[in-house]
Amino acid sequence: MQKIMESLKRWEHRWLTPKAESFDSPSHGLGIRAKENIKKGEDILVFGGVIIHKSQIEEYWKIMGHVGTQIDDDFFIVPTSREELKARGVINHSCEPNVGFKNQIQLCAIRDIKAGDEIFVDYSFCESLYPNSFACNCGSDHCRKEITKDDWMIKNIQTKYFAYFSPYLKVKIEKAD
Ligand SMILES: [Zn+2]
Repeated sequence: MQKIMESLKRWEHRWLTPKAESFDSPSHGLGIRAKENIKKGEDILVFGGVIIHKSQIEEYWKIMGHVGTQIDDDFFIVPTSREELKARGVINHSCEPNVGFKNQIQLCAIRDIKAGDEIFVDYSFCESLYPNSFACNCGSDHCRKEITKDDWMIKNIQTKYFAYFSPYLKVKIEKAD
């Protein structure tokens, strides 16, 4: 058993395309940037880790200082160590994202990305429980300035990016229509 556990360690919980890398983002601390050109549709990141119920997520945030990825109304998938975050990077928010969700746990490029560009998702694509709003200075013409857990309900984001929302939010958006 010990041997099996040891051999499993060579795989990380989350997968990052070899075309991107973790780096110290000037504006955000940890980030992820493209090492080479990436085409629209290519896989970027697959989230893994452990599953945490919303009743325990605040305790997790306090320990890790990281939000994780909301995968359903009540559940998050989260990394289990800071080392893992550092190795695989943290996807920062932009109001003009270049990646979106392909399914619950997988991000793909939503437009061509140039080598050296930072990789950004719009947090409204998966978050509906994030407790605090935060200020955004992403520099986009469409910057919302304040990002909140309710941004997934904004109509023009839904219209522009519906295909890239997490499946559980697509269901909520369709029900609300
Ligand atoms: Zn912004």
